[in-house]
Amino acid sequence: MTTVLESLDSVAVTLDDGQVLEADLLIGADGVHSAIRALAFGPEEDFLHYLGFHVGAYSFRDAGLAALVGNRIAVTDTRNEAMFFYRLRDGRITAMAVHRTKNPEIPADPQALLRSRYRNLGWICPAALQHCPDDLYYDQVAQIRMPRWHTGRVILLGDAAAAVSLLAGQGASSAWPPPLSWRTNSTSIRESARPSPPSKHGSGRWSQNTSGPGSRRPAGSFRQRGVAPSSAGTSSA
Ligand SMILES: Cc1cc2nc3c(=O)[nH]c(=O)nc-3n(C[C@H](O)[C@H](O)[C@H](O)COP(=O)(O)OP(=O)(O)OC[C@H]3O[C@@H](n4cnc5c(N)ncnc54)[C@H](O)[C@@H]3O)c2cc1C
Repeated sequence: MTTVLESLDSVAVTLDDGQVLEADLLIGADGVHSAIRALAFGPEEDFLHYLGFHVGAYSFRDAGLAALVGNRIAVTDTRNEAMFFYRLRDGRITAMAVHRTKNPEIPADPQALLRSRYRNLGWICPAALQHCPDDLYYDQVAQIRMPRWHTGRVILLGDAAAAVSLLAGQGASSAWPPPLSWRTNSTSIRESARPSPPSKHGSGRWSQNTSGPGSRRPAGSFRQRGVAPSSAGTSSA
């Protein structure tokens, strides 16, 4: 996706292959590293708040370890790094590793980092780390905080709009529609009276991005929202 262009009548998205898709509404449900958010609202660093942890996760089969985990969520009682284990319905075990680090940068080799940093945690950790694949999920633990989740004909949902993070309230289980009353007419979606969370940039910049009645353009004219971010980072779970 390279551009989001909006008119009074529609919103047009240009895909990486040059194809242009036009629709009444563009819904960005593309996770914590949302490309649609970057194009329509601004760069990720404006909204992503690093919480001081990294997380790695993967699933694997091992009947012996599955028996030890049983039907519980097992967590090591360790500080600065902890491993979580739970069984999935299909018998696989999910291992989740969370550690503190001041450096938000993703390491070059997350598999090697996990194997070295968590190897002394005891219990089933060393055996579980043997199952760690090189394509594990690995990301910063971060929140997405935005003062508003819609602008013109673009709306964000889920983690793209308001990731709470797996440590601070999970995400999927707290899914909700954005606190908006979606009163639509041919050109606008209006926000409810519910207060928005504060922005580190204040609310001033948002008036520029919002297509309210004062910023209407003649039908058929498009305004460009932005260009694709250079890197989307890793995807979320
Ligand atoms: C390790 C871990 C464990 C978690 N455990 C829990 C839990 O136990 N309970 C809980 O409630 N929450 C949990 N969460 C949080 C939960 O996973 C998220 O809050 C939830 O998945 C957010 O859903 P979403 O649909 O908004 O985004 P996502 O689930 O991230 O989905 C976004 C989708 O968009 C796709 N996408 C992204 N960019 C593009 C693009 N350019 N083109 C096409 N597709 C794209 C992605 O591939 C993905 O499929 C956990 C998170 C992590 C990281």
